[in-house]
Amino acid sequence: MAEFDVDLFVIGGGSGGVRAARIAAGYGARVMIAEEYRMGGTCVIRGCVPKKLLVMASHVHQEIEDAAGFGWTIPPATFDWPTLIANKDKEIARLEAAYTTNVEKSGARIVKTRAVLEDAHTVRLGTGEVVRAKMVLIATGGAPNHGAAIPGIEHVISSNEAFHLAALPRRILIQGGGYIALEFAGIFAGLGSDVTVVYRGDNILRGFDEDVRSHLRGEMEKAGITILTGCTVTKVDKHGREFTSHLSSGPSIASDQVMFAIGRHPNVRGLGLEKAGVAINPHNGGITVDGFSRTSVPNIYAIGDVTHRVNLTPVAIREGHAFADTQFGKRSVEVDHADIPTAVFSQPEVGTVGLTEAEARAQFSHVDIYKASFRPMKATMSGRDTRVLMKLVVDGTSGRVVGCHIVGDGAAEMVQVVAIAVRMKATKADFDATMALHPTAAEELVTMRTPTARYVREAAE
Ligand SMILES: Cc1cc2nc3c(=O)[nH]c(=O)nc-3n(C[C@H](O)[C@H](O)[C@H](O)COP(=O)(O)OP(=O)(O)OC[C@H]3O[C@@H](n4cnc5c(N)ncnc54)[C@H](O)[C@@H]3O)c2cc1C
Repeated sequence: MAEFDVDLFVIGGGSGGVRAARIAAGYGARVMIAEEYRMGGTCVIRGCVPKKLLVMASHVHQEIEDAAGFGWTIPPATFDWPTLIANKDKEIARLEAAYTTNVEKSGARIVKTRAVLEDAHTVRLGTGEVVRAKMVLIATGGAPNHGAAIPGIEHVISSNEAFHLAALPRRILIQGGGYIALEFAGIFAGLGSDVTVVYRGDNILRGFDEDVRSHLRGEMEKAGITILTGCTVTKVDKHGREFTSHLSSGPSIASDQVMFAIGRHPNVRGLGLEKAGVAINPHNGGITVDGFSRTSVPNIYAIGDVTHRVNLTPVAIREGHAFADTQFGKRSVEVDHADIPTAVFSQPEVGTVGLTEAEARAQFSHVDIYKASFRPMKATMSGRDTRVLMKLVVDGTSGRVVGCHIVGDGAAEMVQVVAIAVRMKATKADFDATMALHPTAAEELVTMRTPTARYVREAAE
C-alpha cells in the first residue's frame, strides 16, 4: 500500500487553491482539492466578480443621466433589482461550472466538503473519510469581520449577504472606510439607494495616498453619499422592517439595511492547525509563511488570504502557481510582492500602484510630485460635476516613477498598464518621452511637465 493517498491535498477551492491544484496536477502530481462551499471561492462567488457586475449595473444610471447633454432623450428608466441579481447569479453559476471543469480536466479530484487537519499528513473530510497526503496546501481564504459584539449585531449584514438581498434597500448605512465599503456605497447609490457611510477614522481609504483619499471623498459626497467619519455604530435597533443605528458621535440613523465592511480575517479557525503544528503570525492572525509559502511545518504550505499578506485575487493565484512550480515543476519561483497594482471600484474609480507620497518622502531624500486635477472631456458635454485626479510620485534623485495614483473613470485599466512601467523602473523622462495619445485622460500621465511639489530632505549633520 502506498504511504500516501495523494501527493498534494489542497484545502480550499478559491483563486489560489484552484490554480495550485491545476498546475500541480499538470506536472503529474496526484492532487485532491476540498471545497466546502462553492468552487471558485470568494472572488468568483461573492467577491471581485459579482461586485464588478453590480458596479457596472449601477453605472448605467450615470450614462442615462449624461445622455441628455449629447442630445438623447430617454424615457424615464426603471430598474429591477431581482432581475439584476438573477442574471448575476446565472453568470456566477456559469463561472463556478467552468472552474470545476478546468480542475477536473487537469486531473485533480474535487471533494465537495470541509477538510481539516488531523496531523501534518492526515486530512479528515466532512464525510468522515481520512486522506493521507504527502504535502498539504492551505488556501482557505478569509471571511468578513463583524467587529465588537455591539447590541443588535445580529441585524447587520456583510458583503456576503449584500449580494443576495431580496430587494434594493431604499436607505442603507454602511460602516467601513475600506475598498469593499466604498464599492458597495457606490453600487447602492448608483442603483438609487440613499447611502450613509460611517467610518471611525478621520478619512476613508486608510493607507492610500492622501490626495486620493480626499479627492474620492469629495466626489462621493458630490454624488449624494453621506460620509460620516470619526464615529462608529454602537448599537442597532430593529423596529418592524426599519433599523436604527446609534452612532458614537450622538445621532442615530434610520435605514432599511445596515452593512458592516470593516475588514476580513484569515480562515484559520477549526482547521486543526494546532494539531499539525502550523504557526500563526501573531501580528495579523494569518498563517506564518516565508517567501516560498512554506509554513512552520515542512510539508505544509499556505497561500492567498489565509496568509494575510496582500489580499487580492491575482496575488493568491500567483502564490498558488509559484508553489506548484517550485514543489512539482522543478522550477523555484518566489513571488515578488512589490508594486502590486490595485483598484477601488468606487464611483469614480481609484487605480494605484507603488508608493504614496508619504511613503516616498519617508524613503527618499528628494521627491517630486506631479499632480493634475481636471474636468474629463465627457463632463464638458454632460454637465456632470466631476474631476479626475492624476498623480505621479517620483524619486527626485534617480528620476524613477515610484508611484502612480488615479481617481476617475478608467483608473483601474490605466493603472494596470502603468504598473508595467513602474515595475520596469521607468523614469519621469521615459514618461515625458512617450508620445501622448490624444484625446484621452491618460495622456495627462505623459504631459505633466512641471512638479507641483518638490521635497528635499536635508542631510543629517
Ligand atoms: C466583496 C469583495 C470584493 C473583492 N474584490 C476584489 C477585487 O476587485 N480584486 C481583487 O483582486 N480581489 C478582490 N477581493 C479579494 C479576493 O476575493 C481574495 O483576495 C481572493 O479570493 C483570495 O483567494 P484565496 O484563494 O486566498 O481564498 P478564497 O477565494 O476565499 O477561497 C477560499 C476557499 O476555501 C474554502 N474553504 C475554507 N475553509 C475550508 C475548509 N476547511 N475546507 C474546505 N474548503 C474550505 C472557502 O469556502 C473558499 O471557497 C474581494 C473580496 C471581497 C470579499
